[in-house]
Amino acid sequence: MRTLEEAAREAATCTRCRLSQGRTQVVYGVGNPNADLMFIGEGPGFHEDRQGEPFVGAAGQLLNRMLAEIEIPREEVRITNVVLCRPPGNRDPLPDETDACNPWLTEQVSLVDPVVIVTLGNWATRYILGNRASISRVRGQRFPWNGRTVIPTFHPAAILHGGGENSRQMASLRMDFQEIRAALAERPEPAEEQLGLF
Ligand code: URA
Repeated sequence: MRTLEEAAREAATCTRCRLSQGRTQVVYGVGNPNADLMFIGEGPGFHEDRQGEPFVGAAGQLLNRMLAEIEIPREEVRITNVVLCRPPGNRDPLPDETDACNPWLTEQVSLVDPVVIVTLGNWATRYILGNRASISRVRGQRFPWNGRTVIPTFHPAAILHGGGENSRQMASLRMDFQEIRAALAERPEPAEEQLGLF
């Protein structure tokens, strides 16, 4: 298998779909190449397209704050999106765009090899889990997915555009992050560390 850097370098020149025509740059992903925890959003927005990094705008600030609350530094996790290029006007990606981009995501997930994947928002959750259940029904639950655990939660932007700091959704987001922390803490120790005890 090639490295994440090699994959990102190739992705940077991708022209597999029409989103390549309107982008400033490909937003491949950021953070720890060996993260146990990976976040998957929908697609880059205005600021992400400009800066080349996922979740750097207002939604990203809220994501950072939620990570800080469970004492996980942003640098320790991996963050990416279902599509790597900004859809015009922040519309949802179209099926032929997600089909074209899927190999990049599949490869990034297998290279990072996370234990827990958090899908951010209804759209990314439905894309990954392939079901029609709405985010308010599935959020905070653990779903087995290709040998990993997927935990869906609200998209931070939905909190910012919805109820805000004191809303029920914000309280749910907080609970979901506690669940993320618990799921990570429950993962089995790597074999070498277990052997080291004896
Ligand atoms: N929303 C997303 O889904 N992804 C980003 O990177 C930023 C905002």
